[in-house]
Amino acid sequence: MSHLRKSPISIQNDPWEAYLDIDKHGHLTLSNVEFTTTNLCNMRCSHCAVGYTLQTKDPNTLPMKLILQRLDEIPTLRTISITGGEPMFSKKSIREVVKPLIKYAYQRGIYVQMNSNLTLPLDRYLDIAEYIDVMHISHNWGTRDTFANIGFGAMQKQPPLKAKMQLYEQMITNANHLSEQGMFVSAETMLNKSTQPHLEKIHHEVVYDMKCSRHEIHPMYPADFASQLEVLSLREIKSTIDSLLDRRDPNTWMLFGTLPIFPCIGDEYDQQLLSKLQSAPNVTLRNDPDGRSRLNVNVFTGDVIVTDFGDETGTISNIQSDKLTDVFNQWLNSSLSQSINCHCPKFKCLGPNLLVKNMYYPDKNFKVQEQLMHEKYHQVLM
Ligand code: SF4
Repeated sequence: MSHLRKSPISIQNDPWEAYLDIDKHGHLTLSNVEFTTTNLCNMRCSHCAVGYTLQTKDPNTLPMKLILQRLDEIPTLRTISITGGEPMFSKKSIREVVKPLIKYAYQRGIYVQMNSNLTLPLDRYLDIAEYIDVMHISHNWGTRDTFANIGFGAMQKQPPLKAKMQLYEQMITNANHLSEQGMFVSAETMLNKSTQPHLEKIHHEVVYDMKCSRHEIHPMYPADFASQLEVLSLREIKSTIDSLLDRRDPNTWMLFGTLPIFPCIGDEYDQQLLSKLQSAPNVTLRNDPDGRSRLNVNVFTGDVIVTDFGDETGTISNIQSDKLTDVFNQWLNSSLSQSINCHCPKFKCLGPNLLVKNMYYPDKNFKVQEQLMHEKYHQVLM
């Protein structure tokens, strides 16, 4: 099989960073498509965006020919993400959707991330290992009780505790084995009231037991699906990040995403924390891809959404009628997108995630902030 070589993922090469599009094309560009490939999962996490819509049988998908054609039409495509449900749960979905997608990406030199709970038998993951650039897993389990309760929080008929614990062990050993075999496993932890007291323990498990290549840290924002979990105040988020930086293993890449900390907010502590983040070894801050470089496509309906904006916008289009590049350009021109799409080159900042703005800066006009920043730093945008 012919394929294009990709540079390995590293702190210098994060293909999901939307700023790469600014560097390369001079403006926000569609470079990432996320596919929801199944509604099935063996777990029902309280914090899972699709936790309450999970079904027992997947409907028929759209023809793969159409889906791949829509990808062919994106010359700037750099990454795809595969999400669910649990993408490796249904053998039919693996065969008919996941494998065609990852093989397509492999041949085109496109990076692939899979979002998995890693609790299924190891063989399933080994089978696709060569096609996966990032195996992304959520680790929000301060204690095993948390896994048992929150990991199945949205399930009506609860499995026995022993079965839940077996899945926990499977997740840890799978991550360890896949990492040992060279897979880039990235564990994400949300900052919230449930994880905050246990962050050191979670980090330890991610780094030493699971041997993950990266630990991602994202504050949790109050979207509907997360309503049962408690959100940290802005002050708590900052102090939690501050102490995590002091206690982390500096040899492991720690990626911070969707942070509510911006250079334009005139807060002294923010600026100190930003400097600390920027000077810490093996730490990166990522601009949020949602709304800036990414669209989500549902392979069953063809519906297109902007993840995280879904509550505001609903479905914005459908791939049965529209090209994704056209949908993305329409999205960028929408008033909602325009309201938060600011850009300060000096800080390589692309503005706040919508949930961040709504939660912590509801009254802030980031377009005004942008103007002030540009005047302050004498910047002219391309
Ligand atoms: S890009 Fe937006 S959020 Fe970032 S520093 Fe500039 S004005 Fe603030």
